Amino acid sequence: MKSLMKTREGYGLTLVESEEPHAYEDDVLIKIKYSSICGSDLHVYKWDQWAKDVGIKVPGISGHECVGEVISIGNNVSNFDVGDRVSVETHIPCGECELCRDGKQHICENLLLFGLHKDGCFAEYTSVPEICLRKVPEGIPDKVAALLEPIGVGVHAAQKGNVSGKNIAVLGAGPIGVYSGCASLGFGAAAVSISDLSDSRLNIASACADFKAWNPSNTSTEKFLSEEKNRPDVIIETTGSIHAIKEALPYLKKNGTVIMVGLFSEELPLNFSREIILKEVTIKGIHGRMMWDTWDKMEKLLLEKKLNIEPSISHIYKLTDFEDAFESALNGEGMKILFEN
Ligand SMILES: [Zn+2]
Ligand SMILES: [Zn+2]
Repeated sequence: MKSLMKTREGYGLTLVESEEPHAYEDDVLIKIKYSSICGSDLHVYKWDQWAKDVGIKVPGISGHECVGEVISIGNNVSNFDVGDRVSVETHIPCGECELCRDGKQHICENLLLFGLHKDGCFAEYTSVPEICLRKVPEGIPDKVAALLEPIGVGVHAAQKGNVSGKNIAVLGAGPIGVYSGCASLGFGAAAVSISDLSDSRLNIASACADFKAWNPSNTSTEKFLSEEKNRPDVIIETTGSIHAIKEALPYLKKNGTVIMVGLFSEELPLNFSREIILKEVTIKGIHGRMMWDTWDKMEKLLLEKKLNIEPSISHIYKLTDFEDAFESALNGEGMKILFEN
């Protein structure tokens, strides 16, 4: 089969003919229909420090966001059948540690990641453990189903922010920021503001939902967030930029919540006494999605038409055109980039 591989440490990926995987024991073999490029795939493509540190499988097939059809199942698989339409959860939990037994498989002590520590889905077929497979309900189109994994991050962020009735400020209008904002409105937030340095990203965001958008390069965050009607009860941080969070925090209301999603490449210097302690602010981190609470809530929002994410799909490529696809992604033009098999 065709697959997009990290064949050696260093820049780029290579399209290779590799052996079709099998579904042994607990595994399920899937024929991929659509897959999508995630921010983490860009780190792997560029082979930056994050990619070097995360311990990825080399050689290994990249990609973890996908939808496909079950082709065969291992002997121990009981919940899936040939023909099922499925999406994949990136978290591969051990199923045995205390966190797994406590319903927090997504932050399992022995967590592995699909497409990083194990061959992924930028290929014609992939084999995944049954424990990270999800049947896709009818009514969710394939292209959206390929994005359930990243949409789930946004839904999880909004879940943890208890956003209903509140004023939300989302920092960053990349896919995760946009999905966090969409999910906040889906869960009944009073209003959602969203910032980005790219007007084209803000335009795509506005095509998805009714956001108040601001571009800090024209309208300062101070000017925007200090207006009483824009002051947030909840900040959802998706940029990983020290600058963005430092500018926004002073305008968070007392007793507010900060949901941290974006990964920072440096340590974060903040005035904790002033911005957090004396305001009784709560900070919560988000890693991926709850298995499967987030998925239940996300599917409900999608089926009730409370999440309109299709405008976030900006490009569709064939695997053979992967260099153009990654170039579009690295340039930051558009938003979500799919591969169609
Ligand atoms: Zn992802
Ligand atoms: Zn575990």
